[in-house]
Amino acid sequence: MAQKIDGKAAAARVKEELALQVCKLRELGVTPGLAVIMVGDNPASAVYVRNKEKAAQQVGIQSKMIHLPEQTTQAQLLALIEELNRDAGIHGILVQLPLPDHFDERAVLLAISPNKDVDAFHPQNVGHIMIGDYGFLPCTPAGVMELIHTAGISPRGKHCVVVGRSNIVGKPMAMLLLHEDATVTICHSKTADLPSVTRQADMLVSAVGRAKFITADMVKPGAVVIDVGMNRDENGKLCGDVDAASVEPVAGYLTPVPGGVGPMTVAMLMRNTVFSARRQLENRN
Ligand code: NDP
Repeated sequence: MAQKIDGKAAAARVKEELALQVCKLRELGVTPGLAVIMVGDNPASAVYVRNKEKAAQQVGIQSKMIHLPEQTTQAQLLALIEELNRDAGIHGILVQLPLPDHFDERAVLLAISPNKDVDAFHPQNVGHIMIGDYGFLPCTPAGVMELIHTAGISPRGKHCVVVGRSNIVGKPMAMLLLHEDATVTICHSKTADLPSVTRQADMLVSAVGRAKFITADMVKPGAVVIDVGMNRDENGKLCGDVDAASVEPVAGYLTPVPGGVGPMTVAMLMRNTVFSARRQLENRN
C-alpha cells in the first residue's frame, strides 16, 4: 500500500518557518507585501485567492487583495500592475489565472516586474530556472520538490516521467527534477502509448487535469506518484489526476488530493514573497 505524503503538514511546517523569518524582517522595518489581483467571478479562482490570503495571514505577510469587475479593460489592468510595480511596500504581485477572454494573458504577465513576479511566470525568471540560477521558484514544481524531500526521496538517478508540458507546471517541473540529477521524460497529449512510458517511471508526476486519468496499469510497482491535478469527479468532489483507489496498492508513495501538492503550492508562493522582501532589503543596504 502506498505511503501517503502529507502536503498539508509539510506546508504548515514551511509556513511556521516563514513566520519566524517575517518576524525578523519586521524587526528590520520590512513587512513583506503581496498583491493578488483577481478579475471577474470565477468561483474556483475565488477559492484559490482566499487560500492565498489565509496563508499570507498565517505567515505575517501583508496581503492586498484586489478584486476587479469582469468588464475591466486590459489598459486598466496594466495601469494597476504598473502602480504595484512602483509600490515599495509590495514585494510580490500575482494575477490569478485564468483571466476573462478579452485579456491578453501573456502581455499581462509580462507587465509584472520580474523582481515581484512571485509566480515565476516572467520569461526572465523562467530563463533563470532553465540555467539553475534560482531566484523565484515556480510554486507548484517547487512544492513538489519540497514534498519529496520531506518524504526523504531524492530524484538523483531516477527516471522521472512528467505528464503535462504547461509553462506553469510540466516544463518547470521537468527542469527542477533535471537539476536534481533525474533522468526526465516529458509526456503530453501527442505521446504515443503513454502507459508504456509511465510504467517506466520511478517517479511519476501527473499534471494533466483529468480525473482518474492515471490508473494502476500505468504505474510501476513501488513508484513515487505525485498528483498535481485538481479536478472535480462525477459528484463534484475535488480530486486529482490519479485514480487513487486502483493506484494505492501499486505505488510506493502517493500524494493525496486534497492535501498534497495544493497546500505546498501556496506555501511556496509565501516563500517567494518573503524571499522578495529580503532581497529588496539586501539591495537597499
Ligand atoms: P494545462 O491544461 O495547461 O496542461 C495540461 C497538460 O496535460 C498539457 O500539456 C496536455 O498536453 C496534457 N494532456 C492533456 N491530455 C492528455 C492526455 N490524454 N495524455 C497525455 N497528456 C495530456 O494544465 P496545467 O498544467 O495548468 O494544470 C494541470 C493540472 O494541474 C490541472 O488539473 C490544474 O488544475 C492542476 N494544477 C494544480 C496546482 C496545484 O497547486 N495543485 C497548480 C496548478 C495546476 P498538450 O500540451 O499536448 O495539450
